[in-house]
Amino acid sequence: MKSPFRTTLPGGWPEGAPPRSTLYSLPPYGCSGEDRENLGSYISRLSSAHDMARWTLTKRIIGPAAEELFGVSSDRMARDIARADYNIKVSRATEQAYQWAHTLNRLTLRSNLQLCTLLPLKELVSACLVLSNKRRFCPLCYKDDVQKRRDCYDRLLWSIDAVTACPLHRLKLVNHPKQKRRPGAFGRTDGPSDEVAANIDSMESPASDYEVESARLIAELLDDAVVFPNAGYSASAQSAFLKHAVDTLFDGKSARFAAHLLVNKSQMHGWVKGQVRMSLPRLALVAYCCGCAIADILLGNKVMLSLRPAPQCQNRRLIAMGGAGAKRPRDDLRRELNEMIRDARVTNAAEAARALGVSSKFLRANFPSEQALLVQSGRELVKARRKEATVTFDQVYLNEHIALCSAGVYPARRRVLERMRGKVASLGRRNNAERAQRRAHATTGVTMARAREPRRPLLPVRPSDGQTEGKV
Ligand SMILES: [Zn+2]
Repeated sequence: MKSPFRTTLPGGWPEGAPPRSTLYSLPPYGCSGEDRENLGSYISRLSSAHDMARWTLTKRIIGPAAEELFGVSSDRMARDIARADYNIKVSRATEQAYQWAHTLNRLTLRSNLQLCTLLPLKELVSACLVLSNKRRFCPLCYKDDVQKRRDCYDRLLWSIDAVTACPLHRLKLVNHPKQKRRPGAFGRTDGPSDEVAANIDSMESPASDYEVESARLIAELLDDAVVFPNAGYSASAQSAFLKHAVDTLFDGKSARFAAHLLVNKSQMHGWVKGQVRMSLPRLALVAYCCGCAIADILLGNKVMLSLRPAPQCQNRRLIAMGGAGAKRPRDDLRRELNEMIRDARVTNAAEAARALGVSSKFLRANFPSEQALLVQSGRELVKARRKEATVTFDQVYLNEHIALCSAGVYPARRRVLERMRGKVASLGRRNNAERAQRRAHATTGVTMARAREPRRPLLPVRPSDGQTEGKV
């Protein structure tokens, strides 16, 4: 196959002219950890600049280039980009993201596209829990983009799970609403949908000080990781920093540090000993409470520290785990629990634990038989609710099916579902609709047009099923 890289200059160009890039050398947006573009958004803009769909550009140019550079399959690259979550896939700290960033570097003659991924953090922060599985945005950042007449783009920072706010605008990040892929939308830049654009003003909600500060600390880490490309995680550096903090702020008592951060004593012990690696949210918490940068903790810097109280959200987390109930006599608790079960005031174990002011773990350890009973009744309740929802759904489906038949229209599933909108809590999954459709056709005797082989073996529809549904 012909190499996608340009090796010769076009005819008529002077000898020794600087090399030309294969794809437009589009600069990524943003210049710091707070506003840098992620690679998924970059690819989307790059394809758009070439007036090609992402998949086509990958299939024709990026894939073959990656095959030449890294020996990876061109088809795999095309599959990467065709996924709904491609944005996350190519912006992570994985080998796959490395191949994407460096192939694009070569094709655009740039050298910095790996900074649009989390690769710089790879050696520093444990990979688990780093990426958010939802696509999020800051409404004011998008508004800024529109005002500055550039494409609305996704910031790398927004894809980090521990970040919940925009440090520039002090607003909470908002989840992109789920959206069905429209035909033809494949190659367009993945900016905000029309729905988001129309309601953007109502989406601005201020974030707490801690949310803003921890987002700023993580953005700073993205910048620091670029400055220290060879720095990696080391247990001894984490240990050295924490010992320094315990010595200077808490007279050498790590339990007091744990109490200040509102974390578990044994967890703190593991961190100080270097046995447990701190996660990114914990690093942000410690940096916030000690008034330093996350990089200081990771590099073991003995910097000046200043104490700041732990944020409110941390407080709530501990309270949610249990309460004062555990201090009451067990007999009292047992009596109250039994009364609650008898009067059916609680329906599951979690509710009972909450009502008693104890943790679920405490309930299980001290009242095992009551807990087992509650778990059982909780399960049954869920089952019963699910069944009820199924019956209601099928009934509404049947009503609309009959209404269409009476109007002389074939009751196609799509038409029936369209009429059901607003009459049921949710249109549910495809399986639900298929089941309701089969039952409705069995009840009314209308033949199913274009009947396809069912995906799963069909349960025989008993005539009694149709009748009981009719009565509900
Ligand atoms: Zn913002």
